[in-house]
Amino acid sequence: MEISIELSNPTGNFWIDNGLVVLYDKLGEGDFEISDVLDRILEELVVETGNTREYFDRETGQFKKYRKKNWKYPTNLFIKSTPKVEKTKINNKTVYLRPPQYKLKLEFKKKGVCDICGNTDYVTDAKMWMFPFSVEPSRFSNFYSGLKEGTRLCPRCALSGLATYQGWLWKAQGRDKLHIFLFQSDLKTLFKLRANVFKVLEVQSEIKGGNIPLEFSGNYIHEVNLGLLLTLMKELSSNESILPDEGKRILEEIFGEWDVETPITLFTFSGTPGKAFNMDSMMEFSEFRTLYRLYKSWISILEEYSDNPHRTIVNIFKQFTRREGNSFNTIWREYISWAILELRDPAKYIEDYLYDARAKDENPEALSFGSLDIFNLYWKEVINMDEKLMTVLQNFGHKLGKTAREANDMGILYSLRNAKNPDDFFRVLNDAQFRFELTIPEDILKIGKGEKIMGSPWIRVKTLLSIYAMNSYLWTKSQPQEV
Ligand SMILES: [Zn+2]
Repeated sequence: MEISIELSNPTGNFWIDNGLVVLYDKLGEGDFEISDVLDRILEELVVETGNTREYFDRETGQFKKYRKKNWKYPTNLFIKSTPKVEKTKINNKTVYLRPPQYKLKLEFKKKGVCDICGNTDYVTDAKMWMFPFSVEPSRFSNFYSGLKEGTRLCPRCALSGLATYQGWLWKAQGRDKLHIFLFQSDLKTLFKLRANVFKVLEVQSEIKGGNIPLEFSGNYIHEVNLGLLLTLMKELSSNESILPDEGKRILEEIFGEWDVETPITLFTFSGTPGKAFNMDSMMEFSEFRTLYRLYKSWISILEEYSDNPHRTIVNIFKQFTRREGNSFNTIWREYISWAILELRDPAKYIEDYLYDARAKDENPEALSFGSLDIFNLYWKEVINMDEKLMTVLQNFGHKLGKTAREANDMGILYSLRNAKNPDDFFRVLNDAQFRFELTIPEDILKIGKGEKIMGSPWIRVKTLLSIYAMNSYLWTKSQPQEV
C-alpha cells in the first residue's frame, strides 16, 4: 500500500499538516510504500541512550552487549510503545534473547472515511503516537473542536501524524515544563519555514533542551511565545540574522505588510513532562503584523541611543523576573508578555513587579535602560493615552519619587500604589503635597464622567504615576550620593 506526498493537498489539521511537510522534506514528492515511510521516520525517532546492556545469544551460548535505545525526548512523552522481547531464565535471572526493537505497528484492515482529511481509504484507529489530540480529547477539545475518541485515520494522515514529532518546535524548561510550538498555514509556507528558518536556526545555534532558540524562556506560555516571536523578528530585521534570503522572505510574508496575506497561526502547548505530557495551558497567536509594527516602532525610538536596539528590547523583557532560591520566578514577565501579545495594558503588572519584586531587592535598581520609553510608546499608541497627560504624569512622578527618596520615605509610594478609589488616590496626593511641599498638577485632579482623568480611567492614571514615582525613587537611590 502506498501514500502520496505533495504540498498541494493540505488536510487543514495543523498536527497532520506539519507531519506532511516533514515527509515532503525527507522524501520529496511522490508515492511511497507505507512500510518504507514508517521505517524512515522510526530511524530518527529512536535514539541510543548512551547505555549498554546484555542479551543472551542462543546461537553462540554467550552474552553479548548491545546499545540501549529509546524514543527520542520529548517524543517519549507521547509514544509509549515499548518493544516486546523474547526472554528466558538463566540461573533464575530473566535475560533478553535479542536486543529490543523499537517498532510501531500500523494495520489497515477496514475501509472507511478518514476523520482528518475526509478521504475514503483503508483506515486505522488513531493512537497517541499518530495523533495525541484524539486520544485525550478531554484535554484538547475545548481548544480543538471536532475531536472524539476513536478517531479513524487513513495511511497518509497516520504516517504524517507520526512525522510531526520531527517537525514540531519545542523548548524544555529544565524538568519543570515543556513548551511545544506548531505553526498552521498552507503547506508551502510551512515547508519554507521549516527548510529556511527552523532547520537553519536549529543547526546554527547551540540549543540546550530544545530545537529552537528563544530570546528568553520560563515556565509560562506567553513569555515563551514572546521569546520565540522576538527571535523570529530579530532574524527578519537585524543584520545579525543567520537566515538565507529565502528564510527572511518567508518571515517578511508573515510579519510584514505585504498585499498577499498568508494566514498563519502559532499554536503553543505547555505542560509538565512527567511520565507523559500533562498539558496545562494552550494558546493561539496570529497578530504577527501588529506585533511587528510595534517592534519596529520600539526599534526606531531605541535606535537613537542604543547600538543594539533589539538586545535592549530583549533585556527589558528579561528583567521582569526575580530570583527565588535556586530558580527564577517569572510570573511578572508572563503577565506583561500576555498583555503585549493580547494588546492589553501591562501597567498593573509593571507596577506589581516594581513594588512586589524590585523594590524588595537588597540593592534595588530602577528599570533597565529604555524600559519606560518602550512602554510609554505602547501606552500612547496601543492604549491611546493622552500624550499631554503622560508628560504631566512622568514629570510629577519623577519629582515625587526623587523627593520621597530624599526624605527616605518609600511608604508614601506604597500608599499611592494601594489607592483603591479616586478619593483614596487624591488623599495620598494631598498627603504628598503636605509632607513634601509639592504642587500637584491640576490636570490630575480633574476627574470627570466615569471616574476618568483626561480621558483615562483614574486607576490607569494612578498606576502610571506610581510606576514613574517608584522608578525615579529607585533610580535616585542607585546613584552615587554626593558627599
Ligand atoms: Zn486522512
